[in-house]
Amino acid sequence: MVAVMRDARSAMLTFLLLIVCALPSGCGRRGDGPAAPASPPRLLVIGIDSADWGLLDPMIAEGRLPRLAALRAQSASGRMKTFVPLEKSPLLWASICTGVGPEVHGVASFLREEGRKSPTGSAWYAPAIWDMIGAAGQSTAVSGMWTTYPARPIDGVMVSDYLPYGRERSVPLANLVYPDSLSARIVACRVHPDSLRASDLARFLPPGADVAALEAAFPRQMRNLREFWAADLGYLNVARLLKDVADFNLFFFYLRGPDMISHSFYHYLKDDPASPRNDPGELAAFREVVRLYYDWVDEAVGEVLSWFPPDHPAAVLSDHGFFGPRPDGHGTAEHSEWGIFLVRSPLYEAGAVFDRIELLDICPTFLSLLGLPPAKDMPGAILSQSLTEAGGRHVRRLEKHRVPSYMELRPVEGAEAGLDPAVGEEIRKQLRSLGYIN
Ligand SMILES: [Zn+2]
Repeated sequence: MVAVMRDARSAMLTFLLLIVCALPSGCGRRGDGPAAPASPPRLLVIGIDSADWGLLDPMIAEGRLPRLAALRAQSASGRMKTFVPLEKSPLLWASICTGVGPEVHGVASFLREEGRKSPTGSAWYAPAIWDMIGAAGQSTAVSGMWTTYPARPIDGVMVSDYLPYGRERSVPLANLVYPDSLSARIVACRVHPDSLRASDLARFLPPGADVAALEAAFPRQMRNLREFWAADLGYLNVARLLKDVADFNLFFFYLRGPDMISHSFYHYLKDDPASPRNDPGELAAFREVVRLYYDWVDEAVGEVLSWFPPDHPAAVLSDHGFFGPRPDGHGTAEHSEWGIFLVRSPLYEAGAVFDRIELLDICPTFLSLLGLPPAKDMPGAILSQSLTEAGGRHVRRLEKHRVPSYMELRPVEGAEAGLDPAVGEEIRKQLRSLGYIN
């Protein structure tokens, strides 16, 4: 049975490769004019969960976030309209990565619920961009992305979003990493929240703050700060390792911390009078955590960019924006409908502003940046504003030659990795504290 499926899949791959190679810009051939993307195609994607220009623009105007500001000046950028009604991050990122909605990819909830039909771990019901480009012989490094446990075989490396969990186990969870040959080195990248020193945490707190006293007075907030930052620091370590493992076509770096930090600390920033939690000492201690966290995110973004040539094609995006507390509750109610998007590429004019980007346009656009066509069953379109002349030719060619579908590339379910109930409860506890689940 497995062998039969493999045969069907390899026939599909051959079919796709034939289509891709038949494109004027495919497989290194030159068509009308020079092929727009450099060969071989490369793309760095940096996902910053919940980043919102409403927060970032005033910081940039103050001279903060210098790496993001410099990248934006070299990029075409704009605000990205996410799904309305507002949705949870796993659903949004799966839609970004597949180019189709949750009714197709099936990722609709944080955790597998009894009796609810949802994909098993990372085997979503629609192929992700790493499956599509893998069919064309391109490799991906992806780490920390939602709904990627157990990590499954791809052409490249997948580091699951469960990496930060289950630290107390004597043996790490199985299948945190594909391929397993990297598991020990990847697990060693984890940062334990308790290993962060007071002097490290002080960067998110007011100058001269007594960190130990704050940990005693506000244990929940300080615990969240430690855990969210440690997870992001761990994934930054993973990226530092992966950059030397191979020269991946798609390098997808993702930070979940900004959303977690925002859910926990945005109400201090907004000084929401309706919030009973904002007593003056607490407010003074935590008012700037969100902005100071973005200063750290900017440093991380700068470091990741520095691993690649200065003109390396790169995109930075979020899955939704962040509004902060609203009267109707926490969780997704705090999100906003406008995420961020910027792209640095010879296909797009530096400094240009997009006035319309929809979430489902992102996957077709990333495929195009990697020299591949979107599929006819993807509702979105390759971003067609702010194109350079070469970009215009390239995008028109790919839109004209959409493949019928990439759906045949959807992953076969891998072996079920026995989920540790203690790890499940650890994750539920964290999501509950953020208002995502009851
Ligand atoms: Zn959120």
